[in-house]
Amino acid sequence: MSATTPGLVCAHHHLYSALARGMPPPPKTPTSFQEVLEQIWWRLDTALDLDMIRWSAMLGAVEALESGTTAIVDHHESPNAIEGSLSVIAEACAEVGVRVLPAYGITDRHGADGAHRGLEENERFVKEGNKALVGIHAAFTCTDDSLEAAASLAEELGVGVHIHVAEGIGDMDAPERLDGLTRDNWLLSHCVHLPTDHTLRGTILHNPRSNLNNAVGYANPARFTNPIALGTDGIGANVIESFRLAYVMQRSVDITCGPDKAWSWLETGWDLMPEARKDEVTWSYDPMDPWHLAFTPGVRPLEVKVDGQVVFTDGRTTRVDATEVRAKAAEQAARLHARL
Ligand SMILES: [Zn+2]
Repeated sequence: MSATTPGLVCAHHHLYSALARGMPPPPKTPTSFQEVLEQIWWRLDTALDLDMIRWSAMLGAVEALESGTTAIVDHHESPNAIEGSLSVIAEACAEVGVRVLPAYGITDRHGADGAHRGLEENERFVKEGNKALVGIHAAFTCTDDSLEAAASLAEELGVGVHIHVAEGIGDMDAPERLDGLTRDNWLLSHCVHLPTDHTLRGTILHNPRSNLNNAVGYANPARFTNPIALGTDGIGANVIESFRLAYVMQRSVDITCGPDKAWSWLETGWDLMPEARKDEVTWSYDPMDPWHLAFTPGVRPLEVKVDGQVVFTDGRTTRVDATEVRAKAAEQAARLHARL
């Protein structure tokens, strides 16, 4: 038995984190989310170069097809390899056959020049005719000037902004600082500590596994009136798994809820990347219905078509050799880990 769905959309990914697995432990065990950022992610992104970015994106794209995900909304940061990074990610995804909507997440963590170069990378990529968003890391690592510059660049380019919002308690003033800047085409990731009566516009991106892993708390997205979509925050691209976790986390605070709500969040992905509706995934399971999937681990794609072309069949990607991609990614991961 098999069933077919459109290609799934991962609404919040960090393709660069594919190489983080197995990285050396930080010098000191982080005791807060802020320390997780400082000692793990901000050390990792600083060490990235374009070769590492390319092979992490290739691996992430392969894993996406292996999960039935044909479209990725990516949020990228590599402070020492900014220029050209979005093209490297887009080319890698295209080679594998995955759609991507990237953004370079600007930040003032490395000074105003870093933020400026990040903005220029977003601008260059969009002006070259590519689909993308303008990225901001988060309000708490940006000056007001940078937040305003990113918002006006997005407005000028006619695209939305992809930003982390109130993921941890260190970003509690984000709703005030972003008040008046957000638009309906903004993507607001996490929003764990965003007040229910906030004034921000845009789609809220819920990342249940990441929130559990970082001990930041439960976003409880059902409380918001904004549209909600599901991401992975860089832990693979399996959004059916995100759906399962989103459902069970919601259930943990509300025994009356069914899986339909969390499934509707997965479906919001098609509003962000409508082209994925044209893709076709044939699954190992039938029916692909929320009440079944919430309680059925291990459902996998048998065949994936993107734009009418078969990009995955018989457990394998067709355009690239997944074994070779994994080997190259492992080489780059070793280089990256050595730098840490
Ligand atoms: Zn994220």
